[in-house]
Amino acid sequence: MRKTKIISTLGPASDSDETINNLIQAGTNIFRLNMSHAKHDWVIEIIPKIRAAADQAGRLVGILMDLQGPAIRTGELSRALELTEGDFCELRLGDGPSSIEKSTTVNYPGLYEDIAPGDTVLVDNGVIQLKVEDVSSEAVLCKVLTDGLLGSRRHINLPGVNVRLPALTDKDKKDAILGGEMNVDFVALSFARESSHLEELRTFLEGQDSKAQIVAKIEDQQAMKNLDEIILSSDVVMVARGDLGIEVNIEELPIVQRRIVRKCIKLGRRVIVATHMLESMLDNPLPTRAEVTDVANAVYEEADAVMLSGETSIGQYPQKSVEILSRIATRNEGGGANFAEAAILKTHKQKTVKAAVVLADSIPGCKIAVFTKRGIMANYISNLRPKDAFIYAFSENDQILRHLSLSRAVTPIKAKFSNDAEETVARGLDDLKRRGHAETGDSVIVLSDVLGGEFVQDSIHLREVE
Ligand code: PEP
Repeated sequence: MRKTKIISTLGPASDSDETINNLIQAGTNIFRLNMSHAKHDWVIEIIPKIRAAADQAGRLVGILMDLQGPAIRTGELSRALELTEGDFCELRLGDGPSSIEKSTTVNYPGLYEDIAPGDTVLVDNGVIQLKVEDVSSEAVLCKVLTDGLLGSRRHINLPGVNVRLPALTDKDKKDAILGGEMNVDFVALSFARESSHLEELRTFLEGQDSKAQIVAKIEDQQAMKNLDEIILSSDVVMVARGDLGIEVNIEELPIVQRRIVRKCIKLGRRVIVATHMLESMLDNPLPTRAEVTDVANAVYEEADAVMLSGETSIGQYPQKSVEILSRIATRNEGGGANFAEAAILKTHKQKTVKAAVVLADSIPGCKIAVFTKRGIMANYISNLRPKDAFIYAFSENDQILRHLSLSRAVTPIKAKFSNDAEETVARGLDDLKRRGHAETGDSVIVLSDVLGGEFVQDSIHLREVE
């Protein structure tokens, strides 16, 4: 049994029925569709395949649509610019005549207002580093710090610059509409930089009648400045280390990751650690020792989930990557950082849950069963990171159960609640036994605020499995 959840990105290496099934068997809890690459036809085909494979395996598997978000890019060049350290090059908004030979357009309207001499411009995932020397109303003059070939439509990062880009591009909106139609469970917002961006996405999704939960991808220094408001405006947060590792000094990345995970647990939001977890497995059947230790670090921090990107979408070993991720997580759970000690308990319901978790921690082998309507109580329990106890969340609603597939230590289970609360609980405990999660004599703490009868919001029941 594993508490840390696994997110696998689907792509050309993994979109067959057989591989999707293998990835579920290997331990995938959520599939991610990366809209930077995915086309609508592909999404329309893949979602029913995922649902069918999950049904066949008898698992509740979530789907996360990851929106591309706004990106700053170089324009079209007739031929790539060969940049050598010490060269000067120019970034411009328009195609007008350039005073120097090495010049490219950039699609960021705030280019001349938001960038200042001394700023760093990183091109192509930080491969090419430029230092801003001068800014006029017609061009940004840069000095080349690292050699490289600057091509068309290359991604640009402006570390430390407060970029003014929209929360959602037209493409993101079209993608999110499709996500709503296909009933995806999570929608991730790339480059979430302030709470208003998440509120805009939430309003947009509500307008589409989508019940998807919102994932804020933390990718730059602006997001780090506004971390609390971003966390509180989202359902889930992703430590998107790909861009973060460019936007902050690379040696800061572990500190930033730890800070985000700790804050999410404190404020009661789920958190994903993403990118380059097992990068070498793109071409190798085994990870490096450093990757194994990096995954274990995220597990010690008690993140809800770890995510694979290229490893499962374009790599040679998608199934092996999930199997190894699962093995590392399972072996390294326990003895974590205990960030949950600082979790904020505001409501009476949260305090009841805390008491239940303290009780569970004091009984060896104890399990927690929660009967939940919207998943809120189940997430409170998960957030307090019980030391050993696994959490079994019973709900009548499939999508709520798929949302819970992301929550640490939670096994979501479909149930039918009857008017008789005691009977519903007895059926649930039987179900745990039937599925091999519990044995006769096991202690189970039962919590619910929806069943009625004696199972009211502030009651904790200790049951023994018959
Ligand atoms: C990242 O930057 O780490 C990330 C997950 O986002 P993307 O893959 O969309 O760049």
